[in-house]
Amino acid sequence: MKLHNFSAGPCILPKSVMQKASEAVLNFDDGLSLLEISHRSKPFVDVMEQARALALELLGLEGKGYKALFLQGGASTQFLMVALNLLEKRAGYLNTGTWSDKAIKEAKIYDDIYEVGSSKSAGFNYIPKGYEIPEDYDYFHCTSNNTIFGTQMKSFPDSPIPMVCDMSSDIFSRQLDFSKFDLIYAGAQKNMGPAGTTLVVVKEDILGKVSRKIPSMMDYKVHISKGSMFNTPPVFAVYVSMLTMQWLKDLGGIKAIEEENEKKARLIYSEIDLNPLFKGYSVKEDRSNMNATFTLENENLKETFDAMWKEAGINGLNGHRSVGGYRASMYNALSLDSVKALVEVMSELESKA
Ligand code: PMP
Repeated sequence: MKLHNFSAGPCILPKSVMQKASEAVLNFDDGLSLLEISHRSKPFVDVMEQARALALELLGLEGKGYKALFLQGGASTQFLMVALNLLEKRAGYLNTGTWSDKAIKEAKIYDDIYEVGSSKSAGFNYIPKGYEIPEDYDYFHCTSNNTIFGTQMKSFPDSPIPMVCDMSSDIFSRQLDFSKFDLIYAGAQKNMGPAGTTLVVVKEDILGKVSRKIPSMMDYKVHISKGSMFNTPPVFAVYVSMLTMQWLKDLGGIKAIEEENEKKARLIYSEIDLNPLFKGYSVKEDRSNMNATFTLENENLKETFDAMWKEAGINGLNGHRSVGGYRASMYNALSLDSVKALVEVMSELESKA
């Protein structure tokens, strides 16, 4: 039986993608594996070009001055790469959780960082609002979805300065006006593919404005000039990301998946709200459609509940080690049926208790 995979990332990927990916490992081009052909060979260059084009197409950013790159080092490397490429004097960061906190820490190595807003003192259970973004800063940085605490920015400011967003845990999950952002980055391992590559979508005209020397591997301009092939790219991660983006496009793109994601989120949150045994972690208006975080009102039921969901074939429901409780991650490839299975277990617990 295939498990209902609620893991926070790496996480569930579409079955058809996994099938094609495994075939490519055995035979991709003329009997050779995807893993043993040159990254400079035409078949792989085509994969990279297709992946870059699909990313821009899905986000509606073709022909608007943006370039897509598939880099290495995870989203965590983007925390410092953003600062190295864009930070001259001062930048503004919205602190909505562990990942924003880490982005701030890295950027501080290079220059001055000002937190325009923070929900740290409330355990990051909401998204700060009504903050001001100073016009004379270099850029504004935010995190669209707070993977650990389960909050999500439902709207974005009209930033007077370039807006940078870490979309690692909700990229390709909902329709947004992506042209509001000047730089978007996302580790692949949630909605895009396996761990090992990070998508960066950057508006070219914001680059080249800092005075520091940037090491080649850290320089977006270098990667752009080499077509995202400055050094050997993570071929398997890029290929599987390309397949996943193709899967999403065939499904009807972000618009189609957003409808599914909303159905899944409505189902789990209505159970959390109606079932007296559970309590949601984050404030209602900022709840994430990707990661639903909740706790048991009565910890004595933990053993019973844990045994029940495991018995039902559910996997990956434990909360992040820093928060505890439960976290149901409902990324694009997770079906509504999996959420139904979880909700059934939750209501069964109520009838037993
Ligand atoms: N940002 C967010 C929002 C994340 O969820 C994560 C990882 N879960 C990261 C950054 C760090 O990503 P990586 O492990 O690829 O460095």
